Amino acid sequence: MSLTDAYNRQIRDLRISLTDRCNFRCFYCLPHGEPAWAKKETLLSFEEIEFVADIFVSLGIEKIRLTGGEPLIRRDVPVLVEKLSRLKPRLRDIALTTNGYDLSRHADALKAAGLDRVTISLDSLRAGRFAEITGSDSLDRVLNAIEAARESSFDPVKLNAVIVRGRNDDEIADFARFAREHALSVRFIEYMPLDSGHGWDRSLVVSGREIREAIEMEFPLELASATRGSETAWKYRFADGAPGEIGIIAPVTEIFCGQCSRIRLTADGQIRTCLFSATEHDLRGIVRSGAGRREIVEFIEAAVLKKEPRHYINDPSFTQPERTMSFIGG
Ligand code: SAM
Ligand code: SF4
Repeated sequence: MSLTDAYNRQIRDLRISLTDRCNFRCFYCLPHGEPAWAKKETLLSFEEIEFVADIFVSLGIEKIRLTGGEPLIRRDVPVLVEKLSRLKPRLRDIALTTNGYDLSRHADALKAAGLDRVTISLDSLRAGRFAEITGSDSLDRVLNAIEAARESSFDPVKLNAVIVRGRNDDEIADFARFAREHALSVRFIEYMPLDSGHGWDRSLVVSGREIREAIEMEFPLELASATRGSETAWKYRFADGAPGEIGIIAPVTEIFCGQCSRIRLTADGQIRTCLFSATEHDLRGIVRSGAGRREIVEFIEAAVLKKEPRHYINDPSFTQPERTMSFIGG
């Protein structure tokens, strides 16, 4: 079985948000203060996630990424990973995106449960700036988490850095150096209009091209592969053969929707067919109504057929989705 949308794109990647809550307040994602969190009873239980993941995998989903909010705020995430691991080998890959705050103490258990890959977000290598960006004075803790992930045999350990003009664009080469010195894979991400403070402005977007040029001023790069397939990132290696890898994700300036293979499940069980969708599909409602497997399959297939052809960030009529990245699941 396979999930194909109306534009003949095969859907193989599912991102599952485990919670909309977060212990950080990254300015490009969550505002300061106390957001209106989802009610606990609306969040999918691990059993519900396991149930729908099994159906998604039977429909051709090959990769699942657990995200949030901060996924490690949910208790016992290794238990969920263990449940999802039972879907292997049809499910080829289970990954986690985390801010790293709680990763050190869970890394071994996550690895043992079958987590294949981990991505840690890190937007500054300077302690004061890290605190300003995230609202949490925890750079050392996140750096320790990177080391812990490596010690738990995650290889490569991937970092995500959202680059925002005037905030951390002067650290682009520093991140590349960090990737080389620690044999890490660093993904640079363009700033997208998904912040709950609605502070996004096109002038703040540092384009993928600018990012590459800033790195190449110090460290010449070579494309690792001439094609990107359904991946979001162009991947580069260092031309001098140094370890480490660079990825550049440029959803704003280089639309890659034509090859998109992703759908998302929000923490409260809504299918989103695009980060920028204006509508959601209430999978939780169907599951909790006691629907049978066939009905759920039909619901998912119908939702996928409504997947948008592309995002409209660059159109004058673009309106930012109500849900922020923390809710949708990055
Ligand atoms: N809390 C976890 C973390 O920060 O890694 C997982 C969830 S977070 C929403 C997933 C990724 O989305 C992070 O790497 C974050 O930097 C990125 N992100 C959040 N808001 C963004 C925005 N407005 N533009 C681009 N990336 C964003
Ligand atoms: Fe939390 Fe991740 Fe959003 Fe930062 S990017 S506020 S760590 S969910």
